[in-house]
Amino acid sequence: MPMTPTARLMDGTRLARQILDHSAATARAVTQQTGEAPCLATVLVGDDPASATYVRMKRARCEKAGIASRHLSLPAATTTAELVEAITALSEDPGVHGILLQHPVGAHIDERAAFEAIAPHKDVDGVTMRSFAAMSFGLPGFVSCTPAGIMRLLDHYDVDLAGRHAVVVGRSAILGKPAGMLLLARDATVTYCHSRTRDLKSIVREADVLVAAVGRPRFIRGEDIKTGAVVIDAGYNPGNLGDVDFDAAATRAGLITPVPGGVGPMTIAMLLSQTAEAAALQSGLAPADRLPASSG
Ligand code: NAP
Repeated sequence: MPMTPTARLMDGTRLARQILDHSAATARAVTQQTGEAPCLATVLVGDDPASATYVRMKRARCEKAGIASRHLSLPAATTTAELVEAITALSEDPGVHGILLQHPVGAHIDERAAFEAIAPHKDVDGVTMRSFAAMSFGLPGFVSCTPAGIMRLLDHYDVDLAGRHAVVVGRSAILGKPAGMLLLARDATVTYCHSRTRDLKSIVREADVLVAAVGRPRFIRGEDIKTGAVVIDAGYNPGNLGDVDFDAAATRAGLITPVPGGVGPMTIAMLLSQTAEAAALQSGLAPADRLPASSG
């Protein structure tokens, strides 16, 4: 007999809308003070259709929130040196407040070198080593957008993290690793799992808070979810599938993010929030008029 879902949904679409409204208000305040709207520069290398779609979506959202965007589309054959030069020029351009290099770039490009060409005060996607270090030390700076969105969701739903066992499945530099660091900073006891982890299921079964960031559809089985656990599914796979078997997990979890409509909208919202915040900081706007960029 099919089990009834018991979990409460964590509505990322609704929370993202609130964050976008707040970002639009910050953007308006910047525009009033400086006469210029905040500006996000997007950089795309090559012609991968999915990447082009993501960039288009981000730019459309910017426009809605009163944030200007400037797009740089580079050919697939762009070298590391050319990409670094282009990003350095944007870093030095006072008319640009935030920079987003769409990931992934071609395999022949040193992606790390390209990311590091982004000035930290314009690193609204939180991809530089300096941003990662600042986040890890609890210092001001911009946080990788998906983990920042996850933390906002957890706080919005009043999830108490202190002393709880948080299991993060995945350790990528933009998602799993920073998510674990942010959970640790909030006093969770954090375990990372990855492709070399032994007996992953038994670790997942111990999770009070589970973050799935694997990139494999329905990789986390419902029967492995601890009763009452908080389940954050960051995965986004073809067919609108998350990394968690949602229907089964929702019969055991206490709180769960849907896919789509959970973590996804939060990522774009955090990008815009951090872009508006960067512009406010760069134009000397009073803190009272700004949205805390990455706070929970
Ligand atoms: P990634 O760079 O490919 O990293 C995947 C991670 O999963 C790696 O750490 C890998 O371990 C681990 N992994 C792979 N197979 C595994 C297995 N069989 N058992 C345990 N761990 C395994 O991916 P990502 O960029 O972090 O993205 C992960 C997912 O999140 C994808 O579905 C992506 O589409 C989604 N995503 C969503 C958003 C959003 O806005 N919603 C944003 C970014 C990403 P190793 O390190 O050992 O290889």
